[in-house]
Amino acid sequence: MAARYVHWHQSVERRREVARAERPHAVVVTCSDSRVSLELLFDQGLGDLYVVRVPAHSIGDRELAAIEHAVAELRAPLIVVLGHEGCHAIHAAAQGTASTKRLGAIAASLAPPVPRARRTYGRDLAENVARAHEEYTMEQIAQSEPVLSELMRMRKVQVVGGYYKLNSGEVSWMQSSAPASDRH
Ligand SMILES: [Zn+2]
Repeated sequence: MAARYVHWHQSVERRREVARAERPHAVVVTCSDSRVSLELLFDQGLGDLYVVRVPAHSIGDRELAAIEHAVAELRAPLIVVLGHEGCHAIHAAAQGTASTKRLGAIAASLAPPVPRARRTYGRDLAENVARAHEEYTMEQIAQSEPVLSELMRMRKVQVVGGYYKLNSGEVSWMQSSAPASDRH
């Protein structure tokens, strides 16, 4: 996208257009990290992306409600779960270290993918945890009953995962998550 667009959708006209109604073309679920600035990374503008950001995209009911709103009411056809290199919350979960009690709660919420990451070869543990956690977040979305799972079964929305490298600026894309009905 960055190769084609430069400061896309940032004009006064665009601001007025989206003031009437928003119709984002994607929901992005990502980390709060200051280096993962989505509109800058993807050269997107006003009204383009519906963004849900929490540390290490560790989602719960509130975040799933926000995703439901964007997909069911604003009709966004794509959900992107974007993990990233050098994530502090992921490192805390991988190493069992968190500096405060509340941050510890976030690290604990990342615990389910850690055993999966430990069984995965290649890369380092933090990157394995990041990628396993990304798959876990995609599964949480795909299995969120009744709204998101149903919209996925109807193929009204697709979930894809990406992993952003801080240094190179590259995003490597993962296979999209299958609708719940296709799971075995
Ligand atoms: Zn992060």
